[in-house]
Amino acid sequence: MSDKPWLDKIKAIVGQQYGKVYAWDHVNQPMIRQWCEVMGITNPLYLDEAYAKTTEFGQIVAPPAMLQAWCLEGLHMNNYPPGSTDENPYEVLKRFEAHGFESVVAVNSDLSFARYVHLGEKLYYTTILNDVGDEKVTALGTGYFVTLVMRFYSEQANGADEYVGQLTFRVFKFAPHQKPTPQTDDAAPAVPKILRSKPGISQDNAFFWEGVKARELRIQQCQSCEALQHPPGPVCQHCQSDELSYIVSSGKGSLYSFVVMHYPEVPPFEYPNPIGLVELAEGVRMVTGLEGFAKGELAIGSEVELVFNEFEGELTLPMFRKVGA
Ligand code: ZN
Repeated sequence: MSDKPWLDKIKAIVGQQYGKVYAWDHVNQPMIRQWCEVMGITNPLYLDEAYAKTTEFGQIVAPPAMLQAWCLEGLHMNNYPPGSTDENPYEVLKRFEAHGFESVVAVNSDLSFARYVHLGEKLYYTTILNDVGDEKVTALGTGYFVTLVMRFYSEQANGADEYVGQLTFRVFKFAPHQKPTPQTDDAAPAVPKILRSKPGISQDNAFFWEGVKARELRIQQCQSCEALQHPPGPVCQHCQSDELSYIVSSGKGSLYSFVVMHYPEVPPFEYPNPIGLVELAEGVRMVTGLEGFAKGELAIGSEVELVFNEFEGELTLPMFRKVGA
């Protein structure tokens, strides 16, 4: 028992299972093809029936990472296929809201697979409220980590539905810190400044960050097939060679896509916060912060150029700005 009876009531529903949410469509080739196109995946196991027949699967299978896509509601919120549950698997979030924890941020998501799914299978998932953590104080505010697990199944005619994989989804449900009011008392303790996260540097991407220090935007290049790739990896995505080097980008590119973050406002970023997927002149794409665009000015295809920005005097990041800004 905690000293919060309302929290005990919430924790009492941990383990609760919610009913089936069906996929709108059976596993099908057009969705696989479109998903692969968007993701830049050309593996013939997913796309070429003649090739797939020569594999251990004997037929086309869907990319495992597509699992969640089959059971999404579509363009409109809560538009689930007939037969799906009308229970709300997210009721726990509403309960926290009733106690002042109104904000939410997704923390992490893990997808795991039991087997490949193939054309014609009908999928559904059920949801389990897996865990509600103890109260935590974070940079965002005070709140609770909530973990939901969606277990995906393939419906079988004999009723023995087969488990095919699961998605673990953790969110932080929190009450944001109050904005500090300006202090007039010089003795008041300083509010600690939240800094930008430092990059995770590994053997695979060290060259990239050394380049940033030297004010170069380096793109990984395969020495065997000369293909370029970003983000950097341990092997070439095209020929699997581990003989990798890099070229230095011209820093010119265009906006392939973008999103503007408005909420939640997470320090230390400024809002609205435009984030772009820039297609470099060299042909690879890079997720990056954007600057120099006035409100409403962001457009797919806009010409952008590289700029190096320094933060807190100790972190340099490559970003892109509107040409001429
Ligand atoms: Zn290669």
